Amino acid sequence: MERCDVLVVGSGGAGMSAAVAARDARASVVVVTKSALGASNTGRAQGGIQAAVAPDDSTEDHLQDTFAAGHGDADPALVRTLVEGGPDAIAWLQALGVRFTHDGDDLRVIRCGGARRPRLLQAGERTGAEMVQALRAAVRDSGAQVHESTALEGLQQVPGGWRATLRAKDGTAQVVDAGAVVLAAGGGLGGEAARVGEKSTNHPDATPEVLEMALALGAEGRDLDSWQRHPTGAVWPPGLAGYALPETTRSYGATLHDAAGERFVDELAPRDVVAGAIIDMVAAGRGAAAPDGTMGAWLDTTAIDRENGPGFTAERLAYVHNRYLKQGVDITKERVLVYPVLHYRNGGLVIDAHGHTTLPRLYAAGEITGGVHGTNRLMGNSLLDTVVFGRIAGAAAAREARA
Ligand SMILES: Cc1cc2nc3c(=O)[nH]c(=O)nc-3n(C[C@H](O)[C@H](O)[C@H](O)COP(=O)(O)OP(=O)(O)OC[C@H]3O[C@@H](n4cnc5c(N)ncnc54)[C@H](O)[C@@H]3O)c2cc1C
Repeated sequence: MERCDVLVVGSGGAGMSAAVAARDARASVVVVTKSALGASNTGRAQGGIQAAVAPDDSTEDHLQDTFAAGHGDADPALVRTLVEGGPDAIAWLQALGVRFTHDGDDLRVIRCGGARRPRLLQAGERTGAEMVQALRAAVRDSGAQVHESTALEGLQQVPGGWRATLRAKDGTAQVVDAGAVVLAAGGGLGGEAARVGEKSTNHPDATPEVLEMALALGAEGRDLDSWQRHPTGAVWPPGLAGYALPETTRSYGATLHDAAGERFVDELAPRDVVAGAIIDMVAAGRGAAAPDGTMGAWLDTTAIDRENGPGFTAERLAYVHNRYLKQGVDITKERVLVYPVLHYRNGGLVIDAHGHTTLPRLYAAGEITGGVHGTNRLMGNSLLDTVVFGRIAGAAAAREARA
């Protein structure tokens, strides 16, 4: 049997931030993660991370945008913690080595759906992958024990903490006793998508068993069935079906059209508004058909270079451009067919502003939690959530376990 102060379950942005913060608070830490350290939805994030760092922006504006996008359903204390922690989270990531894109000396900020100001920071086009790389190195350097290819299978409350049963992919079982546990296993929406027969943007490890385990133990949940669809999932070609074209395509000027070429929504409205408008437009019989009959909306990506000049797409959207080129489609010359795709679980475990769930010595952070975003998430706020609440939960768990 292994013993530690803090057991962290999952190694996306939230789990790795929690592990580093718990080690910084001098706790002994074990991280258990289903496959390789850092393999997660976090690593897939392309769009970017929101934080009020621009001179003309404020945490108050960020707070109001977050609250409005979430239909006023978010927990005000959690939203305040999120937005006020934004600038420091960015500084922390930079100190760990994340290279955010600059325009000259200034951090580049982009306006995205639902935000009143440019606020989205990017590390090239692969912000999540860059964060994972930096956080993975920080976890390795921290001296945390990492069990890769190992899943949390059971959790039982014992005096002074929790007893966790782990199962490695080779079938070996292991027991860990921890003074406190941080659940950072994500929202598991990939698993839900498979269950309801929809396409999802999620990593294969995104299954909901840890969330379900916590609920079965009696932890309180909220908004659990509030799922977010990414508005622009690729419909065609088949090799890209389900791939989410980043929101920045619309930030840079791509427009949405029905089969007749009419625009039908403000492309920079919050995500659920844009996704809902596409679904309604197709349901009303105005959709465009892919060669196999799948219906969708046209995303006119050719507008990006028209608006910003030739070469802009190749430079700023190189990743998506190249993914399409590999499938024989040049998005600077052809519009592409899109339809909303399951993306994010808005709800999850109830936490307080310290990341504490409603069960003793049990903390949670990231997509497994609810309340930070209400019933619709502002794009870019999830990566911020993982860092802000991951660090808070890791530090608080360490304090409680070592008290
Ligand atoms: C394609 C895509 C693009 C996105 N783009 C953006 C973006 O641009 N900006 C933004 O803010 N958000 C974006 N998001 C959302 C954001 O990336 C995620 O919500 C966030 O990264 C979740 O982080 P997390 O640490 O909570 O969970 P995850 O990153 O999902 O990590 C969960 C971890 O838990 C592990 N795990 C699961 N079950 C178990 C178990 N039983 N035992 C042990 N370990 C387990 C997994 O292996 C994984 O390591 C995107 C999501 C996707 C899928």
